[in-house]
Amino acid sequence: MTSGRRTPNDVYVPGHGDPRFGVEHYRLVLTCTLEGNQLSGRATLTARSVERLDRFELDLFGLRVHKVRVDGQPAAKYDLRRHKLVVRPRATIPADTPFTVEVSYAGSPRPMPGPDGEAGWEELADGLIVASQPHGAPSWFPCNDRPDDKATYEFEVTAPQGYTVLTNSSSTGQRRRASSTTWQFEPTAPMATYLATLQVGRYVQVDHPPAGSDVPVRSWCVPGRAAAVTQAFGGQPAMMSFFESRFGDYPFSAYSAVVTDDDLEIPLEAQGLSIFGANLVRRDWSAQRLIAHELAHQWFGNSVTIRHWRDIWLHEGFACYAEWLWSEESGGESADAHARSHHRRLSGLRQDLVLVDPGPDLMFDDRVYKRGALALHALRGHVGDEAFFGLLRAWTTRHAHGSVTTEDFAALVTDLIGAPAAASMEPWLNDPTLPPLPG
Ligand SMILES: [Zn+2]
Repeated sequence: MTSGRRTPNDVYVPGHGDPRFGVEHYRLVLTCTLEGNQLSGRATLTARSVERLDRFELDLFGLRVHKVRVDGQPAAKYDLRRHKLVVRPRATIPADTPFTVEVSYAGSPRPMPGPDGEAGWEELADGLIVASQPHGAPSWFPCNDRPDDKATYEFEVTAPQGYTVLTNSSSTGQRRRASSTTWQFEPTAPMATYLATLQVGRYVQVDHPPAGSDVPVRSWCVPGRAAAVTQAFGGQPAMMSFFESRFGDYPFSAYSAVVTDDDLEIPLEAQGLSIFGANLVRRDWSAQRLIAHELAHQWFGNSVTIRHWRDIWLHEGFACYAEWLWSEESGGESADAHARSHHRRLSGLRQDLVLVDPGPDLMFDDRVYKRGALALHALRGHVGDEAFFGLLRAWTTRHAHGSVTTEDFAALVTDLIGAPAAASMEPWLNDPTLPPLPG
């Protein structure tokens, strides 16, 4: 979806995205062959130019392109170099004009390397996952890979018989053939490219009884793990209703936790769905905090999404603070106790991180998470619970399905609470030295 302000390519994820156009809708028709890890796809992008285009770029990594059509006509020329598909249409596209691009492609997808390691498509022992944050989307579909270019998505996925296919929205139906099934999905809410996902496994659905919220909450796992997953992930409905009371209505139609049969290094959020390894099927706090963290990303990250990666604290600081809130709510340590112990720990670490621009190397540094949560806890202490949680609900409502910056957050604090409250946050956001925790 084209946004008002255009931004140059993000230095945190260099070389991704083309700011000269925006995508409004992706239709992805995919066939997955698990044997040999093969993918063939047809992506139809409904886009709008920002400026006059005699050529434009899509991001696509490690796959072969067979055909590119622009507005139904074969492209005059296209060229796939490294992870850039450069397309020259037959006729120049004027500024601010809708156009469609259809790309037929195939190959054996693999995770895309980046400054923070690999991301995107990943083969499992028996199935596959897509976990793209921050740069992995081009590993499975041609896209305008910028977090601020939100679009709606429609998926149609064919996979071998006996496997469950999950994407960001609920399945609306399946067509069975002798050896494969084609799964259709309802259109998604607007979504950033890195949050689009595909999960294929021999999964069964685990329903969790509701706990005060109408939002369907499900987990998915192999049959042999269903009992353990029912236990370990059974707190999610209570987390859902607690987070709705603090953060406002859940922004999507349902929530799923996919638990792979493989261990995964870290859990990861996608829109409407989070991915956990078998190693997190546990009831202890170190697993429960991550289950709460990924759910909180549905508000902070997936609905309200950063325009630039440098503002990552708006995702991770908020999700980390949600862990502390859930700890207190579920009878564990109070949010204040978490804040004080992490503040003590951070005080002993290097004071060289600026929260609003940590740099690409420190983008996912633990200090971004903890200091971001501390900044929120300090603000809460300064303004009181009523103003603080009112602010969080206004943030998720005003910017639902939108793109934001730290300046937008500061402007909302000023608007709802006042300039002194916004000023109280500045040292937390801008100074490398950790400010003292009030109280
Ligand atoms: Zn996170």
